[in-house]
Amino acid sequence: MLENRLDQLSRAGVLLVGCDFDGTLAPIVESADDARADPESLEALHRLVALPRTCAAIISGRSWRDLDARLPKRGGLILVGSHGSEFEPDIVGEMTPQRRALRREIIETVGALTEWFPGAWAEEKPSGVALHTRACDARSESDAWRAVLDGPGSWPGIFVREGKRIIELSVVASHKGDALAMLRDRLKADGVVFFGDDATDEDAFGVLRESDVGVKVGPGDTRAGFRVASPADVRRLLAYLARQREFAIRGGPGDGRA
Ligand SMILES: [Mg+2]
Repeated sequence: MLENRLDQLSRAGVLLVGCDFDGTLAPIVESADDARADPESLEALHRLVALPRTCAAIISGRSWRDLDARLPKRGGLILVGSHGSEFEPDIVGEMTPQRRALRREIIETVGALTEWFPGAWAEEKPSGVALHTRACDARSESDAWRAVLDGPGSWPGIFVREGKRIIELSVVASHKGDALAMLRDRLKADGVVFFGDDATDEDAFGVLRESDVGVKVGPGDTRAGFRVASPADVRRLLAYLARQREFAIRGGPGDGRA
């Protein structure tokens, strides 16, 4: 049962709570411009981030700036915009010198690999490199993919997106799953819960581990382990999680001690 799983998660060493914005934290309204986070859901997130070893991130398709403008009281909330590619500067930054160097390295490595696989070619991208294999025969294609996935695709700091006869390697997160996985790493989270309602949230559900909790809001296929009907349920669950976490950490509801 969902509440039992949230109980377990509330006792995680470091807890990361991830939440989509529209349709999850903010009820859907006619004009996207009018969307506002449910005040009680937001309050629950603020209670969570006020606790030690507890982080919360809003991960949305909206731009970071748009998201920021919609959340006048930020507290310790982490905002991630543009489906995972726009982090705030102090969390990841965009193309740091290290990332630029890493991008160079994967471009060269993938470029060199194409020599071995007839038909394969590499395309430089702003944040990485794409390997195209549509001109390969089946054997050469599967060998090229294996070489890229086992090679540069497995390096730390590299994000892989597999498409139709194309693999893209990037030095920045490119979807919500990347973003959530990166946050988990950086925050050293032991437990993760993610709430989302859209197709793009499936990438985030896809990176959850067995002990994590994924909650899909509304109808539609999902990889999440749980489903609720609406943002009102998210509000209830976030409040529940905040209360359980307060108990787990402080042995009682918030008393101001950290
Ligand atoms: Mg949504």
